[in-house]
Amino acid sequence: MTVSNGRQFLSIPGPTNIPDEVLQAMNRPAIDLYSGSMLGITYSLLDDLPKLFKTAGRVYMYAANGHGGWEAAFTNVLSRGDRVLVLESGRFAVGWGEMARLMGAEIEVLAQSGRKAVDPSAVEVRLKADTKHSIKAIFVVQIDTATGVVNDLPAIRKAIDSAGHPALLMVDTVASLGCMPYEMDAWGIDVTMAGSQKGLMTPPGLALVAAGPRAMEAHKAANMRTMYWDWTFRDGPEHYQKYCGTPPEHTIFALRKAVDLLFAEGLENAFRRHALLAEATRRAVAKWAEGQVLSFNIIDPAQRANSVTNILVNGMNPQIILDYCREKCGVVLGVGIGDLTGKAFRIAHMGHTNAPMVLGTLAAVEMALKALKIPHGSGGVQAAIEYLGSEVAP
Ligand SMILES: *Cc1c(COP(=O)(O)O)cnc(C)c1O
Repeated sequence: MTVSNGRQFLSIPGPTNIPDEVLQAMNRPAIDLYSGSMLGITYSLLDDLPKLFKTAGRVYMYAANGHGGWEAAFTNVLSRGDRVLVLESGRFAVGWGEMARLMGAEIEVLAQSGRKAVDPSAVEVRLKADTKHSIKAIFVVQIDTATGVVNDLPAIRKAIDSAGHPALLMVDTVASLGCMPYEMDAWGIDVTMAGSQKGLMTPPGLALVAAGPRAMEAHKAANMRTMYWDWTFRDGPEHYQKYCGTPPEHTIFALRKAVDLLFAEGLENAFRRHALLAEATRRAVAKWAEGQVLSFNIIDPAQRANSVTNILVNGMNPQIILDYCREKCGVVLGVGIGDLTGKAFRIAHMGHTNAPMVLGTLAAVEMALKALKIPHGSGGVQAAIEYLGSEVAP
């Protein structure tokens, strides 16, 4: 017996739920790539996207996933042999560094346990030791979906400044843009990359890269540049240069609609919605953790991300929970990845999501814990409801 018919709940940290309006925006014929309406959508996005990153710099759009965005970001500013300091806080900054290594960068990882955010004081110590300024760039993620951590970017910026170090600060916001505050210029970030398929509620396939003035300066001397990603080429006068070829029209239609939805909600409201739904999830997990089997992967509550919660499962394989939720309830949870493979599961609360979606997901998990006789404190969903009921005023 199952109770899984009905709409499937996708509660994985990307790709995330796509709003019906965004799906409908794609449900149209291809259009002339030279037409005024195609040009209009492109240029309106190039005007609007910097507002998401909070930058006066330029944003570039690529037909690519996040990994493509990584390559776009560093090939534009690095030269072969340049040293990059990767700030580990899970899987993604390290993966970004691996890509840069294959393109000829020298990678140094500032290692860090998978249960904590990057320690800004360790960054400061390492940079102070680099008296010759051989480190050219620093890679860090804002939210690492493999661990569920959020890094304190202003504190990292402060550490770099205290060390008086000129390295470019490059940030991956794939799992945080549109979900929590991001202030590229105010926080002194030189390059930011993002993907379409998480907080931005758009199908996978578009990567965004924002570049500030110091990045533009570094770009001039960079020798890792390749034509497809190249900012100088994309800054050219022709519309086809904005994509280095045919525009990925339908994903662009989708992104245009998704950005409209985000602006209509208001970025601050979207951030607050994410914070509320994330805290509701954490209230439930905290209750379940009383059973001594489940626990938060991120130890310090202040370092837990507002787009995804990673839950350790001690002494058993979490796959039975995932299988039960999917097969019996129609709820798809995220698997543990990286060091947490086979040890954790993830609940995403990112992008196009609301109280019934998150409460429904939490209820399915609690049902699984009961059905599978996994020790847990009961009342997790109740705790989530009580939190939301006290925070969301009539
Ligand atoms: C998902 C994710 C990526 C990778 O994006 P892809 O589109 O799968 O290449 C990169 N960084 C972070 C933080 C992510 O969560």
